Amino acid sequence: MRQFIYADNAATTKLDEVAMEAMLPWLQEEYGNASQPYSFSRKPKKALQEARETIASCINALPEEIIFTSGGTESDNWVIKASTLTDSKKRTTITTEFEHHAILNSCLTIEKSGNPVVYLKPTVDGIVLPETLANYITDDIRLVSVMFANNEIGSIQPIKELCSISHTHGALFHTDAVQAVGHIEIDVHKLGIDFLSASAHKFNGPKGIGFLYIKKGEILNSYADGGAQEFGKRAGTENVASIVGMATALKKNCDSLQKNKEHLYSLEKIIINRLNEAGIHYSRNGSSNTLPGLLSLSFPGKDGEAILHRLDLMGICISTGAACDSKNTEISHVLKAINLNNDLAIGTVRISLGKYNTSEEANLIANALIKVLG
Ligand code: PLP
Repeated sequence: MRQFIYADNAATTKLDEVAMEAMLPWLQEEYGNASQPYSFSRKPKKALQEARETIASCINALPEEIIFTSGGTESDNWVIKASTLTDSKKRTTITTEFEHHAILNSCLTIEKSGNPVVYLKPTVDGIVLPETLANYITDDIRLVSVMFANNEIGSIQPIKELCSISHTHGALFHTDAVQAVGHIEIDVHKLGIDFLSASAHKFNGPKGIGFLYIKKGEILNSYADGGAQEFGKRAGTENVASIVGMATALKKNCDSLQKNKEHLYSLEKIIINRLNEAGIHYSRNGSSNTLPGLLSLSFPGKDGEAILHRLDLMGICISTGAACDSKNTEISHVLKAINLNNDLAIGTVRISLGKYNTSEEANLIANALIKVLG
């Protein structure tokens, strides 16, 4: 088997073996369509219900508030686009400059059909301040969408405050929590969230499955026409195996949230301490409240793309904050949004550690960085 160190867990994660085992019966002998009335479909139907209950309990939601989707992209598209399908007089959406493209490109689509979008700027630490939202919000805003934690720099947002300001002005609040679910505590009830997007492959579940939390009583028009699955809100035959895998992975991660966090902070510390000891110049992006295990580091005068390729040759997977082609280095919209200067942005890499990484691997990543940068 190929030996490598995987440190790009913000891109995707390894499927948990317990989750994989839980999926197998639904791919093999129990393949019945969960919506059929005969007894062969009873077990898949029950499995769906149990998975919904498990997922709901992980974020303190009600089971009927969890709607299965194909992942974060679909959940995000749904919320943004459906917000224009109502007959409400309110047409304007507020979001931020550093959302994932699933949100930003959905916003472009609704703007093209005449629905205004306001883009809030985060601070240099990657925080969307409540006062920034307060400056822009009016009673004409229909939806506010702010990500729970940023996928490039890891900064965790003041969701409760943002949500409360939105509600004071009669706006609904959505959060893209794709990077946060299964990694930090989320209580949708306490936070007051109306809609929340999540994706299983970011928390050691399978790819191509996720969910949208829709607060009870909120109406979100379906944007796919078809069958009556998912309480008539999201058509399509249910992917029972993946849904069971997602619920199993989420429960397992949520049951060890504290342990996983401590492990990841200790790995981060190893890398940071080793870079400091070696006298490597860098700055760390994000705020003091950042996703566990996510290190966005900028090395002045260096090229993040070159660092990525050198580490790749050493069998280590990380990512950059800039996407290059042969002629141009395009700085990521996230780094632009936090006003990182070009030199630092070009020298930025993202190391995202996961629960399967070890302290030995953290030391090997540090060794590799020191070798390439020293
Ligand atoms: N939102 C955020 C913040 C993400 O990081 C991602 C994936 O990278 C997505 C949405 C898209 O999720 P999916 O890959 O499940 O479509």
